[in-house]
Amino acid sequence: MPVAIYIIGGGASGLAAARHLEEKGFTPTILEATDRLGGRLRTDTYNGYNLDYGFQVLLTAYPSVRKYIDFKQLNTVHFEPGALLFKNGKRSKIGDPLRKLSFLLPTIISPAGSLKDKFLVFKLSRELKNQKTERIFKGNNKTTLAFLQEYGFSNRIIENFFKPFFTGIFLEDKLATPAEMFCFVYKMFSTGYAALPYGGIKDVVENILKPLKNTTVKLSAKVAAIDGNTITLEDGSTLKADYIIAATDISGIDNNQLPAVQWKSCTTLYFTTAKRYIKENIIGLVTDNGALVNNICYPEPVKTDDTDDKVHLLSVTVVKQHNLTDDELVAAVKNELKKHCRITTESFLKLYHIQKALPDITTLCYPSKPVKAGQYVYLAGDHLANGSLDAALLSGEVAAKAVIEAIGNN
Ligand SMILES: Cc1cc2nc3c(=O)[nH]c(=O)nc-3n(C[C@H](O)[C@H](O)[C@H](O)COP(=O)(O)OP(=O)(O)OC[C@H]3O[C@@H](n4cnc5c(N)ncnc54)[C@H](O)[C@@H]3O)c2cc1C
Repeated sequence: MPVAIYIIGGGASGLAAARHLEEKGFTPTILEATDRLGGRLRTDTYNGYNLDYGFQVLLTAYPSVRKYIDFKQLNTVHFEPGALLFKNGKRSKIGDPLRKLSFLLPTIISPAGSLKDKFLVFKLSRELKNQKTERIFKGNNKTTLAFLQEYGFSNRIIENFFKPFFTGIFLEDKLATPAEMFCFVYKMFSTGYAALPYGGIKDVVENILKPLKNTTVKLSAKVAAIDGNTITLEDGSTLKADYIIAATDISGIDNNQLPAVQWKSCTTLYFTTAKRYIKENIIGLVTDNGALVNNICYPEPVKTDDTDDKVHLLSVTVVKQHNLTDDELVAAVKNELKKHCRITTESFLKLYHIQKALPDITTLCYPSKPVKAGQYVYLAGDHLANGSLDAALLSGEVAAKAVIEAIGNN
């Protein structure tokens, strides 16, 4: 009799669990609530544009990304190792000249921080490059803001660079995220690139899925309850499992009284512009404290045949809390783009309010130990460790390994 392994949730963590199980000869079944796989890795096609469900980047240095994603089969645009800073119509550039020499002069003259700040940026990057990831997650009980201040960075560079840059990553604007996450992400940015697949973030899902041959996928199969080894689907049907990997927050449907996950949200708006106002593949940050817009980018790569009469897709992310209606938000964002970035939008396409974008976790870890809920359920998902694709993939693998070990022991 084959072992009945059910994976609840077809996001990155569920897919990584399936990949690992298949590699070891098992034939799991994925139960996915929606009509598509990928979870938060989602791209919609709208008016011919690929719109990601929130702006997110693929960090090529993530250890699990290197393991589960075949970069030879994934066309990506790499962002430059730096950022374009916008405030009141002025722009300046800051970046890593050791990786792109043309960043040297703009970085030195950038008003974003002092020379000492710029030296500290390189120093920190060197230090973290040499530090093992597991060691970074050993914890230092500091917020990112406290860490930066203690490291010697001035308030100027914190406000002008670190705050907007990491607000876009942490999806909170106080730098209150534990410093371990900052150090981990900084290390990843220093050793690899932030990339975007040409077809949107959904291409990552297709890439991870490709090697799967013996996994059964059931879409629109929402799990309503888990009781011991019995899974009840929303339509009332039941399944008996030997092992269950819950690759999503199951606090509401499982009888093990798991605490509910708290979430961080953001809004991403898509516009078209009649010309490409940012000529490089680089992330733009609005550094004005009062601005709603945090980060902007042209998600499509600069092409040599790009002409100014082509319409360009602009992605804009808002993290700050506000009470505006959608229409008011669109109008406010358009005004800020004009005021701070000198960007005139042509048309507004769509906006996404993403309520459950990243888990809001106060104690972070690097997924290495299996987490169980009761006798049959092994947990996976970024909410167990840290809000990243790396944690999602790795947690799926850890859960799959634990299931295989349990099968061996039984
Ligand atoms: C706007 C945004 C920006 C981000 N930026 C980055 C970034 O720059 N870098 C980075 O590394 N990460 C980023 N992330 C995070 C990254 O996308 C996630 O860490 C990763 O996709 C999480 O995968 P997961 O499998 O843990 O969870 P999910 O992707 O949430 O997958 C869970 C799956 O379970 C399904 N499900 C839920 N309940 C049930 C049920 N009852 N029955 C069956 N199925 C169920 C869901 O439909 C979903 O498909 C970002 C995410 C968002 C949304």
